[in-house]
Parts: sequence; structure tokens; C-alpha cells
Amino acid sequence: MNDKPTIAVIGAGLGGAAAGALLQQAGYPTKVFEQAPAFSRLGAGIHLGPNVMKVMRRIGIEDRLNAMGSHPDFWFSRDGMTGEYQSRIPLGEFARREYGAAYITVHRGDLHALMVDALDPARLHFDKRLVDVDDNGDKVVMRFADGTSEKADLVIGADGVNSRIREKLLGPEAPIYSGWVAHRAIISADKLAAYDLDFEACVKWWSEDRHMMVYFVTGDEKEYYYVTGVPEPEWNHGTSFIDSSREEMREAFKGYHPVVQALIDCTEKVTKWPLLERSPLPLWHDNRLVLLGDACHPMKPHMAQGAAMAIEDAAMLVRCLEEVGADRYRQAFELYKANRFERASRVQKVSHDNTWLRHDEDPSWVFGYDVFEEPLKQPQPA
Ligand code: FAD
Repeated sequence: MNDKPTIAVIGAGLGGAAAGALLQQAGYPTKVFEQAPAFSRLGAGIHLGPNVMKVMRRIGIEDRLNAMGSHPDFWFSRDGMTGEYQSRIPLGEFARREYGAAYITVHRGDLHALMVDALDPARLHFDKRLVDVDDNGDKVVMRFADGTSEKADLVIGADGVNSRIREKLLGPEAPIYSGWVAHRAIISADKLAAYDLDFEACVKWWSEDRHMMVYFVTGDEKEYYYVTGVPEPEWNHGTSFIDSSREEMREAFKGYHPVVQALIDCTEKVTKWPLLERSPLPLWHDNRLVLLGDACHPMKPHMAQGAAMAIEDAAMLVRCLEEVGADRYRQAFELYKANRFERASRVQKVSHDNTWLRHDEDPSWVFGYDVFEEPLKQPQPA
């Protein structure tokens, strides 16, 4: 009989799916509860650095990701107006050799589908919106919006920026709107063929207060993607995104380089997202509840490391449960926080400042990290 504790993961986003897959592999009876009725291939891309690819290796999907993703040789930073190069950060073969895994860019929906496929389908439950948890007994009781309830020994809040589990631990407090929005669009490479311009595999165009990050999201380079950071004083739309337009993009990037103008001209559909963040949380866990990812450290996406931190959290949490023994979950959660707080908070800060790779710098503290090999730091006595 399995004497490992039952674990519930709330949220099957990138962090929750990673936690679910790694826990199930390690033999924990784990159920994953997701509020969405299903997932769709939403128009967005994502960078997966070598630090995340090492976790993907453990989950068993590294090869498939390598086959589906684009493998840029460099991250270029360029002046948005003049096109002058401000940094050339080697990736490609250099990343594989120096950091121990590839640096790829992929379609977020394709990545998510692979990660969700790594979960036991019999233990993945859609349409389950957690509304309340009661952590006062020897099991946690979870109540869902459909009127059902479930019990588990431990509950992981991987439920994103508006986490219900975070609210349970720390009380209601909306995330902070950063004052920046992100526009996101996927562009068919066929359209770009009409231009005599070089569309580089991974490039960030910068000016004083805004930027546009651009990269391919498929290995065949058929889909090109941009995501921006543009100041906008208020966000009062009450939704996680709204439609934007080519006209709005032209206005926001007036005077930018011809490559950027071409991308805007080729834009068919563009959406606009508020960028939300929180200050580092004082509490990541209490009794049988523990947080990971955006539930505890949402950040501006300007380092392309938000999901990476959620996935690393998931791997470290499983490592700590295995290290300490899940029956001593309080100590395991302490060890987890001791080994994640500093790194996640540092990434939050650099993301907030939006300075990452703008000029040549050594990114090895981010890309070289191996969550499975990193020597464990012991928690400081309270
Ligand atoms: P989420 O992905 O938000 O998942 C939370 C899940 O929980 C969702 O599926 C949600 O439906 C579910 N849920 C919520 N509440 C409940 C509930 N009550 N009950 C049940 N389920 C619930 N990161 C990178 O690493 N690289 C990038 O290139 C990158 N680009 C980005 C670009 C933009 C514009 C933005 C906004 C973010 C970007 N990020 C990037 C950051 C990344 O998207 C997030 O940090 C990451 O998705 C966090 O993962 P998560 O699993 O913690 O939360």
C-alpha cells in the first residue's frame, strides 16, 4: 500500500502541471484540480531557458520540446529606433555546453499541452474552481464551485496571481497593477517573406520606457511572436486581457525600426494584458497548505522567467518532500521556502526593473541553475 500522503494541486497552469507530473512520478497519490473547463491554444509564446529544460528532462518531455521549439543562437538587444546592438547573449550550442540544456522558444499552448499530457488523466479534474479550504483537521477539505468537496493530506496552491490559497493564508489583497501592459500577437512568417528585412530568432527592441520582445514559437519558424511592455497608467477593464489593434500598436511604437513597423503591419490580431505583480510574500506555507509560482511571486514578465520560477518551485518542492519525508511536511515546506525565496525574489526584482540582458551580462546565475543539483540551504532558525 502507498503510505505517501495524498496531495492536491490547485491549478493546472505551468507550475501546477509540473508539480503534478513530478509528484505522480515520485509515487504520491496526487490529484490536480483546474477551474477551466479545458485549455485552448492561446496566442502567446514563451522562453524556456536551460534552467527549465532540466526540469522538462526530468518530466520526460525535453526531447519533444527540443523538436518543436525554435533554438536561437543569441538573445539580441537592440535600440528600438536605430537598431544598434546593445547586447549579444550567446545561447544555442553555447547554452547547451555551458548551462547543460538548450534555450528554446515555443508556443505556450504547445508547451502546456505537453505538460498536461504528462499528468495521469484519471487524476486531472477540469471545471473544478476551488472556493474554500479548511485546514483545521488531519486532512485539508477543499470545496469547489460546483458544490463538490475533496480531501487531501497536503494542498499546493498553484492557482496563479489571484490565488485562493494565498488569500486563505494571507487574507484578501489584489495584486498590484504595475502600470505596464503587454501586447501579444502571433504573426505568420509567410507574411514577413514580403519584406527584405532580417527577422531574427530572438530579439528585444528597447527604448526609454517601452520594448518589444520578438521570437519564433515553432522550430519550423512559421510563427513569429511579439510581446511588449508599454506604460499605461490605469487598468480598469476587470478582465485578464482585452483586444488591442494595429493602430494602437503604431501609436505605441511610432519611430521604431522598420522591422518593428513590418511586424505591426503584419499584425492581424493583438491582445493587451495588464502586468501584475506583488511584493515578496512573508509566508509561503502554513500547516498543510503551500504556494508556488504566481500564487506567491507574480512578476512582470520582462525576464521571461515567471513560468520558469513556477516550474523550478514545483521541482524544489518535490525534492524537499523527498529529502525530509512527506510526513514531516512542515519541515519540508520550510526547506522549500529556504531554497526558493531568495532566487524568486531576485528574479521578481530584476523583472520589475526590466534590465535583464539589455546590455552584455553573464546570465549564468539564471540559466546555469539546476534545481535538482543545487546544494540545499538549511532554513534559518526562527
Ligand atoms: P498560471 O499559469 O496562472 O496558472 C494558474 C492556474 O490555476 C490556471 O490554469 C488557472 O485557471 C488555475 N486556477 C486559478 N484559480 C483557481 C481556482 N480557484 N481553482 C482551480 N484552479 C484555479 N514566463 C516565462 O517563464 N517565460 C516567458 O516567456 C513568459 N512570458 C510572459 C508574457 C506575459 C505577457 C505574461 C503576462 C507572463 C509571461 N510569463 C513568462 C510568466 C508566466 O506566464 C507566469 O509566471 C506563469 O504562467 C505562472 O505559472 P503558474 O502555474 O504559477 O500560474
